[in-house]
Amino acid sequence: MKQDIDNSRYRAQQVLVSAGIKPSFQRLMILSFIMNAHIHPSAEEIFQNLKPEIPTLSRTTVYNTLNLLVEKGVLLPLTISEHETRYDPNTGSNHSHFFCHHCERIFDIQEVPACVAGQELEGHLVENVRLYLTGVCRECRSKE
Ligand SMILES: [Zn+2]
Ligand SMILES: [Zn+2]
Repeated sequence: MKQDIDNSRYRAQQVLVSAGIKPSFQRLMILSFIMNAHIHPSAEEIFQNLKPEIPTLSRTTVYNTLNLLVEKGVLLPLTISEHETRYDPNTGSNHSHFFCHHCERIFDIQEVPACVAGQELEGHLVENVRLYLTGVCRECRSKE
């Protein structure tokens, strides 16, 4: 487990450095949390999860770091949930998102047909397919 944490911090460090961002401890912690969480967390979720580990962390630092990471193209902001922005570390791949309105987690969906990417639709050239899907996730369904 310790090994996993070290690996993810190392990966986060590489991402930051290649984006030209100084990898401070708090930035590393924030990015590696987002990369590991797989739920596309909100700023508040990031803050609540890291606060016990980093007592000096403030909400302002979390927001500033997220803004910087979005600006530098490290994170993709998702507006799929109406009341908050969520953050996706997987900016490169052509995937879609499924928002569960029970647990409010956001899952990556690879299976949605991206077949129109590269095609022309009504005269517009489609480069990326990023769909927002909403509903009830696997886990919430199994509890019902
Ligand atoms: Zn759910
Ligand atoms: Zn995603």
